[in-house]
Amino acid sequence: MTNIFMDTYNRLPVTFARGEGAWLYDTSGRKYLDFTSGLGVNCLGHNHPALVKAITSQAEKLLHVSNYFQSDTALEFAEKLVAACSGMKNVFLCNSGAEANEGACKIARKYSLTKYGPGRHTIVTLKGSFHGRTITTLSATGQEKFHRDFGPFTEGFVFIEGGDTAALERALDHKTVAGLLMEAVQGESGIRPQEEEFIAAAAKLCAERDILLMFDEIQCGMGRTGTFLACEQYGVTADVITLAKGIAGGVPAGAFLAGEKAAGVLRSGDHGSTFGGNPLAGAAGITVLDTVANPAFLGEIKRKGEKLLAALQSLNHPRIREIRGRGLMLAVDLDYEARPVMEAALADDQDDPGLLLLSAGPNTLRFLPPYIISDAEIDRGLEMLTRALDRG
Ligand code: PLP
Repeated sequence: MTNIFMDTYNRLPVTFARGEGAWLYDTSGRKYLDFTSGLGVNCLGHNHPALVKAITSQAEKLLHVSNYFQSDTALEFAEKLVAACSGMKNVFLCNSGAEANEGACKIARKYSLTKYGPGRHTIVTLKGSFHGRTITTLSATGQEKFHRDFGPFTEGFVFIEGGDTAALERALDHKTVAGLLMEAVQGESGIRPQEEEFIAAAAKLCAERDILLMFDEIQCGMGRTGTFLACEQYGVTADVITLAKGIAGGVPAGAFLAGEKAAGVLRSGDHGSTFGGNPLAGAAGITVLDTVANPAFLGEIKRKGEKLLAALQSLNHPRIREIRGRGLMLAVDLDYEARPVMEAALADDQDDPGLLLLSAGPNTLRFLPPYIISDAEIDRGLEMLTRALDRG
């Protein structure tokens, strides 16, 4: 039988009808604790009152206006976003992470071309990175498994091993390289924070060689690791930042931001997006920023992350090999496949709630709970996880 959907997702057998806080309800009314946030998107959980109100009242006023005209909502969103991202001067609003990274690559290439002429267009990225599914962002993604079947790729991407400072020094050739793009905490390859020394060396070399330092904060940014941007924890300031996922709490949106060096690179006609800066996404984004971009809220993400990390460590489960991550972005490596555990967590006991988990690689469970999750819900989730580990 032909599936109505192209067969790109290996979906789990559950259909959701609604959500409330950290809980989702399927079409039969059974409830599930959400440790996934829709892959890092629903950062304020489900049916968040302020978010719903902002979206509803925006929809009643103005849903969309083209970028030939101005929108107060887009302007407020942009101002708040730039203010939240330290060192950034301006922003381009788009719709997804891949688009944001495409924009970052365009900035790096034009910055370099304008200043140094042709030939200096290479973008260095890291092995194990994930930057998106378009041909260019796949070209930037340092994982062979995503490259199968889709070549030829966009020319001018070079991968090095994260943590290898000597390789970094060699790769960042000032005659050929325009930018370095990396995740401070890699998401898709299993929640892998970069080492302090490596990021410090990257920042120093990029500054010395006038190569743009670009952080893909699509999964690890927007407060996920307990600071607004994950790169803040490394004490470095980026030239370009990309954001998406949680940026509008569930409404599709993305952004790339530029610091002093790169803010003037893109000019009229250089880039565009029909939906970019859409007022509906803007209204949602303003609410997310008003909630997340404040020290007390970020402090709570950090505290809850430490609680979840400590709880995972104290499980002392014989099948757990390693626990990694920062804030509410954590992963557990198992000595067997993650998928049966995810299935067991989902099924749990039909009379009890289920637990929604993600994987990040075949043997790795990934935890991206919504920021509004309570301590009691974290405890509850850990009980469900323990049962799933025993049964999966
Ligand atoms: N960059 C990172 C670090 C991501 O985790 C993702 C998605 O998982 C992307 C880019 C691509 O984002 P999108 O799926 O919105 O295009």
